[in-house]
Amino acid sequence: MSKVHNYSAGPCILPQDVFTEAAKAVTDFNGIGLSILEISHRSKDFVAVMDEAITLVKELLNVPEGYTVLFLQGGASLGFLMSAYNMMPEGGKGAYVETGTWAKKAVKEAKLLGNVEVIASSADKNFNYIPKGYTIPSDADFLHLTSNNTIFGTQMKDFPKSDIPVVCDMSSDIFSRSVNVADFDIIYAGAQKNLGPAGATLYIVKDEVLGRVKRSIPSMLDLKVHAEKDSMFNTPPVYPIYVAMLNLRYMIKEGGLEAQQKKAEERAALLYNEIDSNPLFEGTTAVEDRSNMNATFVLTDESKKDQFDEMWQAANINGLKGHRSVGGYRASMYNALPIESVQVLVDVMKKLNS
Ligand SMILES: *Cc1c(COP(=O)(O)O)cnc(C)c1O
Repeated sequence: MSKVHNYSAGPCILPQDVFTEAAKAVTDFNGIGLSILEISHRSKDFVAVMDEAITLVKELLNVPEGYTVLFLQGGASLGFLMSAYNMMPEGGKGAYVETGTWAKKAVKEAKLLGNVEVIASSADKNFNYIPKGYTIPSDADFLHLTSNNTIFGTQMKDFPKSDIPVVCDMSSDIFSRSVNVADFDIIYAGAQKNLGPAGATLYIVKDEVLGRVKRSIPSMLDLKVHAEKDSMFNTPPVYPIYVAMLNLRYMIKEGGLEAQQKKAEERAALLYNEIDSNPLFEGTTAVEDRSNMNATFVLTDESKKDQFDEMWQAANINGLKGHRSVGGYRASMYNALPIESVQVLVDVMKKLNS
């Protein structure tokens, strides 16, 4: 079987070892003679999976005391609303940094609940940079950030220093680098980029957040309800959590986030170096804000498009097409993408220019 180089933006590549083990559990989980798909989420075998997944998240991200890790549903798209519900008091205000499509969607949901001030935006240049040097209003109840802009290919290399609580959508770069969890009140992330399959959503919540806002919150959107029920207020997405747990184990075995960060930097350097040195290609974002996860680029000579598309497809590359709001190409290089796959793409780019 020939190897496909999977640059999909999400759901995305996961390690082969994880697929192999996950496949086994579908027919016989832990040797109990039952599939993981047919056991109770309250069985001791699955409760052990949930406990291990939470423990491994804490270990990998060095989550300090006083934080709760939850595996919920609804994707990061529900996280936009849920984070606002749990952070925005009646008549309150959220400060949002608008760095792309997902950040705009977060703004839209928060507006349902209170005042939203967009304190910085890169909309003026089609979100091709990360705004800097803005003032964070001290009268806002929280600051909302998006760490990596999956569609536009920018990434916050540093987070702004904030005196107000910070909420961050880390969907597309969580577990690709170490972050100081203590700087955030809520981190949320859809699983399907660096963690596992679609269906589970990770929340890392400072305990002080739980019950802080005095408004009434629908039970399914209340982080306190989910925390009190250990992520089992309703039936959790058993299989996505199991696969995420296997991937968390795998990341630890590979050397933790230091190793993942090193790999991410190596992949990104290899590809951006080719984009910068090859006259047929051009990056679409500010160089200092380039994402290590999603590299966006265009051809400088559109007449080469058909030839390039044919060449990368023939090289077994999948998922390179750019998002319709940017055009061109997007190479998503999540944790499980081997550097060899990046070399295959770089070789195609070189060949186009020879
Ligand atoms: C993919 C993505 C989302 C949307 O996630 P869903 O799980 O599909 O709701 C939100 N934010 C960012 C940064 C993303 O990359």
